[in-house]
Amino acid sequence: MKIERDFRIRIVLPSDLQLKQAKLFCCWQLKHLLREYEHIVKQRLQQSADLFSFILELKTVLEVCLKSRPECRSMPPPQYYTQLISEMETLGWDKMLSIDTNFQTLKLKAEDSGGRQHVLNIKLKSKHPIEAPECSADLPIPLNINWTPQSTLDQLHSQFLLVLESLAEFWDVLDEIDRKTWVLEPEKPSRSDTMRQIAIRDNVSIRVDVDPRHPKMLPECCLLGAEHVVTPLRNKLNANMHIWNPDTSVLHNLRDVLEIEFPSSATHEKSSFSAECGICYSYRLETSVPDQVCNDPRCGQPFHQACLYEWLRALPSSRQSFNLMFGECPYCSKPITVKMATQKS
Ligand SMILES: [Zn+2]
Ligand SMILES: [Zn+2]
Repeated sequence: MKIERDFRIRIVLPSDLQLKQAKLFCCWQLKHLLREYEHIVKQRLQQSADLFSFILELKTVLEVCLKSRPECRSMPPPQYYTQLISEMETLGWDKMLSIDTNFQTLKLKAEDSGGRQHVLNIKLKSKHPIEAPECSADLPIPLNINWTPQSTLDQLHSQFLLVLESLAEFWDVLDEIDRKTWVLEPEKPSRSDTMRQIAIRDNVSIRVDVDPRHPKMLPECCLLGAEHVVTPLRNKLNANMHIWNPDTSVLHNLRDVLEIEFPSSATHEKSSFSAECGICYSYRLETSVPDQVCNDPRCGQPFHQACLYEWLRALPSSRQSFNLMFGECPYCSKPITVKMATQKS
């Protein structure tokens, strides 16, 4: 690979033209490049016979350092910065959240029509704007940006706003759930999270996965809890599916279909749903919560899947069939079943 870079350098020789006393001035980019080679440059200056041979030596040193430092090769040319500053002026400084010291990683802020704040992360290439920048954001869908060599940061920001608008309904649906129910999982939902585990009553919850493209359609639902409570709910879900109305919100539909009122912060404390695991006595185990419940109506003790599996596996009376472990509830000794704990990826 051939490296072609232009650097400006000024060499001031003393009146007796002795190279040993010469002073070297250069642009900051060159200075930055040579900072680990300063002693070599000084040494060459001392030992070179004349100015011409010193310049040749300097060129060799530079080539070595450019080859050994890949990030120097990709260091942008001066016009990159001029271009970038003018793009940022057009964009408006109020939309800039941060920029790194190399002027290559930017964070832009954007607000959607629901007043939610978002951040667009941009990594500019040194050949900007010829080469498209890398963009990322906290979104439930991949961020696809159309970029041409004529594109600017301002246009990038506008495209991002359009993507945000296409997701506004999705976030409206989830924000309503977050506001009006007790969400057990995720603990702190991010804008890319499509799943919510919503408390129905103690040890009973529903896990919904909302489609970002069709947020008001019937989402994937999974009821969690003891069989005697979950089965009637599941039956209602199946029987009432036809009344799902895509014009109203997911929460409203879930209420109608399941014929329940979801407990909220107005009616309940969160602790009434976050019953701890009967084996490890904690609520959160890494990323999981106790979602395995003893089916005996008088017991109903919740367990983490991993805890219950390990517990049953250690008992000689338990037996395993395929990925299911059969045994007895550690609390009431009634039969209990658990799926094999899935390996963490
Ligand atoms: Zn546990
Ligand atoms: Zn039990």
